Amino acid sequence: MPQAVELERVERLTEKETLFAFSPPEGFVFQPGQFLMVGLPGYGEAPISISSPPSDRKDVELCIRRVGSLTTILHRLQRGDALWIRGPFGRGFPVEKMHRRDILFIAGGIGLVPLRSLIKEVLSSRRGYGHLTLLYGVKSPEEILFEEELERWQKEGMDVRLTIDRAHPGWKGNVGVVTTLVPRVEMDEKNTVCCIVGPSVMYKYVILSLGNRSMRGEDIYLSLERKMKCGMGKCGHCQINSIYTCEEGPVFSLQEIRHLPEAI
Ligand SMILES: Cc1cc2nc3c(=O)[nH]c(=O)nc-3n(C[C@H](O)[C@H](O)[C@H](O)COP(=O)(O)OP(=O)(O)OC[C@H]3O[C@@H](n4cnc5c(N)ncnc54)[C@H](O)[C@@H]3O)c2cc1C
Repeated sequence: MPQAVELERVERLTEKETLFAFSPPEGFVFQPGQFLMVGLPGYGEAPISISSPPSDRKDVELCIRRVGSLTTILHRLQRGDALWIRGPFGRGFPVEKMHRRDILFIAGGIGLVPLRSLIKEVLSSRRGYGHLTLLYGVKSPEEILFEEELERWQKEGMDVRLTIDRAHPGWKGNVGVVTTLVPRVEMDEKNTVCCIVGPSVMYKYVILSLGNRSMRGEDIYLSLERKMKCGMGKCGHCQINSIYTCEEGPVFSLQEIRHLPEAI
């Protein structure tokens, strides 16, 4: 059942993205990579990833991009307003399988939102993991999300590498899509887990570049974005061949979806 939560913080991050924070309702537990169905009565619902880590017991954070009818209405909400949520739903990243391993995070655009939950969870017990690297690609510098946090993560021992798609005045960093960064990462392929979230077009090329680095399918995790309505494996909107993305995903290992031609 949907329940109302009161927004305690609303922060404009970029022209298109806004961060919404509320206190976790009683018994609220989740894994990084899981999502909520978020909405307003009379306007509808949309799946939105939880962007804060489970270890943060004070705030649940959602970062929402304004793209269409519901998200435009949500962007008008202010502190003190009610937001309706259902969930958490789906299967997130298997953090427990990542202990002691090196982790390569690859984010494209708003894909950083669900990855941020995982990154912050891992950084909250930094010593339990090996090398941490984040490759983050956006179209232009104005679209970089959580800029201050990226600097903080770097200080906390994560190798953060940014790239923008096309040259931009004043940008001194890497130019090119995020896959251009993959060959330059030094990694121990056998001990590395890779977590990827981004637009669907990105997955194919990232996976090809990781394949060239001889990474195994069971060590590559990706989150699939599909149209979702119920979030509970009933309506079939998010079905890919025999699987329901909302229930069995959105996070899958490459091994699990390799045989599904429509997945990537
Ligand atoms: C598991 C999962 C997690 C997600 N997590 C997040 C998240 O954390 N943050 C986030 O911002 N998003 C997230 N999304 C995406 C989000 O759910 C969608 O962007 C959402 O459906 C938008 O709802 P809307 O009603 O605002 O957009 P809609 O009105 O449904 O529009 C969606 C898309 O269709 C296009 N569109 C709409 N109307 C038209 C039209 N008339 N003609 C042509 N194109 C049109 C829009 O431009 C837009 O690209 C997630 C999706 C999934 C599946």
